[in-house]
Amino acid sequence: METLANYINGEFTAPSSRNYLDVFEPATGQIYAQTPDSNSADVDTAVQAAAHAFGAWSTFSANDRSKILHAIADGIEKRLDEFAEFESRDTGKPLALAKSVDIPRAVTNFRFFADHILEFETESILGGNGSKNKIVQKPLGVVGCISPWNLPLYLFSWKIAPALAAGNCVVGKPSELTPYTAFKLGTICTEAGLPKGVLNIVHGSGQNTGSAITSHSEIKAISFTGGTKTGETISRTAAPQFKKLSLELGGKNPNIIFADCDFDTMLATTIKSSFSNQGEICLCGSRILVEDSIYERFRDAFVEKTNSLIVGDPNENNTDLGALISKGHLEKVLGYVALAEKEGGTVLTGGEKTLVNGRCAGGYFMEPTIIDGLSADCRTNQEEIFGPVVTLIPFSSEAEAVTIANSTQYGLAATVWSGAPEKANRVAEQIDAGIVWINCWMVRDLRTPFGGMKNSGLGREGGDEALRFFAEPKNVCTAE
Ligand code: NAP
Repeated sequence: METLANYINGEFTAPSSRNYLDVFEPATGQIYAQTPDSNSADVDTAVQAAAHAFGAWSTFSANDRSKILHAIADGIEKRLDEFAEFESRDTGKPLALAKSVDIPRAVTNFRFFADHILEFETESILGGNGSKNKIVQKPLGVVGCISPWNLPLYLFSWKIAPALAAGNCVVGKPSELTPYTAFKLGTICTEAGLPKGVLNIVHGSGQNTGSAITSHSEIKAISFTGGTKTGETISRTAAPQFKKLSLELGGKNPNIIFADCDFDTMLATTIKSSFSNQGEICLCGSRILVEDSIYERFRDAFVEKTNSLIVGDPNENNTDLGALISKGHLEKVLGYVALAEKEGGTVLTGGEKTLVNGRCAGGYFMEPTIIDGLSADCRTNQEEIFGPVVTLIPFSSEAEAVTIANSTQYGLAATVWSGAPEKANRVAEQIDAGIVWINCWMVRDLRTPFGGMKNSGLGREGGDEALRFFAEPKNVCTAE
């Protein structure tokens, strides 16, 4: 059994308490590693290392930081297959998905910010009115980055890369459920020539390690991705200390299908937006709103296509859905199916645990599930399930679709399917969501702002937004 270690000041170190947490492989239900359960003393050691490193790192030119970030991207890219295997083992997701999405995107995150920092305006001059204003974007110092288990290295690097590019030093924590790729990132960073202490990775639970990061007085900003409840807890700690906060939280995304859409493209994409990564993507469309004139046609075709999906060993090439992240999460998702039935819903397909034979007999698998017959305001249609469960809701007008779409506490993402561009844009305009896709899903230009409205978050990531979050503007005004 492998024992993981923290990466502090460029060294792999054991947690001071010598306390460890078991790491499970969701596809088998077996423990395969132990990860540190670090405490506030470990976090403090990491913060001191980061604070010490900041002096030199913040004076590196953008060009020099860029070169190191590219070297990190190269290091991951060279071991893409290996990293994909680690990610699939930690999460239960299909290996093919980790190979085609998770790890390539982690590489792209480092490359994107390595390039973007060179275009980011860090100094500008405003003259006139009898004064000259020199505005400089200064790095904040030590920042905390906390990420979830669903897209581990993808989301960890989405935070770390802009933070480092902007000249900050980082204390980062991946989810205790999926620590492995973050653990391996330490070696890549050392090989890439990242100076000691610039990136520190402290493993452990949210309660111990996470809260020690959010409450540490020398950490100037927290970039967090995870559940809305956790975001609220973090805000309570961080806000009174006036830390900058970026919160990327939960969602209950509507997928709105008008009768005039390209049916085949919509159907193929809706299968992906419903069940990719076992539905464990914050951007999955979990409420499918269908114009009533095509409701039956869509329902029957969608059920048929869903029934052809293969739930199985993540290592098999033809697997569409792997295992859910944990036994507890599987039980929670199955609990929502039971709730849906209690609320009057009909399970059209799925709804049960899937037994996969062989090495995966103890894994946390579940059938892709479609439910209809529920009101838009019931708990099943209001609460985030974060699994392979979607509901179908008919609508009869544009106005009704918008009302249902906006009827939850969340506002992360939405999809609109229609062959009428004006209508699609009119609907997109009215939906409260940080991103609305028209006739596509999960298409991302990393320069664009990314984040949620309402209880789906605070602030935006991506492009200049991320670099501005990790910087503080300072104005020096000189009389002329
Ligand atoms: P979570 O339970 O909120 O955990 C997220 C991270 O926060 C983990 O590293 C967790 O550590 C840590 N954490 C937990 N409690 C903490 C505390 N009190 N203080 C500081 N850190 C704490 O979320 P999750 O279950 O991992 O992820 C699923 C959620 O993430 C879903 O709601 C999903 O929608 C959301 N998500 C949002 C986005 C987005 O971009 N908006 C993207 C992906 C996922 P441990 O796991 O080690 O306890």
